[in-house]
Amino acid sequence: MQGLLFDNEGNKPPIEGNTLLATEELEILKETTKTCCKCRLGAMRQNLVFGEGNPSAKVVVIGEAPGAEEDASGQPFVGKSGQLLGKILQAIHFEREEVYICNILKCRPPGNRNPLEDEIICCMPWLIQQLQIIKPKIILILGKVAANTIFTNNLSMGIMRGKMIRWKEFDCFVTYHPAALLRNPHWKRSCWEDVQLMRRHYEQLTKK
Ligand code: URA
Repeated sequence: MQGLLFDNEGNKPPIEGNTLLATEELEILKETTKTCCKCRLGAMRQNLVFGEGNPSAKVVVIGEAPGAEEDASGQPFVGKSGQLLGKILQAIHFEREEVYICNILKCRPPGNRNPLEDEIICCMPWLIQQLQIIKPKIILILGKVAANTIFTNNLSMGIMRGKMIRWKEFDCFVTYHPAALLRNPHWKRSCWEDVQLMRRHYEQLTKK
């Protein structure tokens, strides 16, 4: 094991993208969030859904909040929406493990209702810290609720999708939430355009 990380002199080689540090920092943050009871949802959860994926991902995907299956498993996007998200990512040549997937809220709102303002205020600092550790270039935002929360606006999907929106130091792309796509399959074409736009931007940013 040691041989993988250290040379004969015991010096640490540079690890691309600071992955080791980010992994440790995310692990510490995850442990801290586990006991979070800042809002009412803390008392209702089976599991806090911290997020998962590549600790030094160039692309972070942000959804709204865990659903029943995510609450039961502790993992983001594992239900029907998650399966569709996996297909969307694969269609633009990303493996799920290559990106980092998380949500605005870490705990499931009862009956999957929309997040309340005080819940968002309590939970956003966890997301901000995740982003500070991962340092992605691109954020893919799923759905109107997540987009309105991140940009603190009340704009429609029609206005926010189909373009790049700069927020803090991140290039953000908004598209339909997979759950919305399952209810309204005719939005899939727009989603396809959004994620292709995002992929092209990724290619531009990462080309050597
Ligand atoms: N919907 C979300 O917004 N997030 C999940 O993790 C699952 C479903």
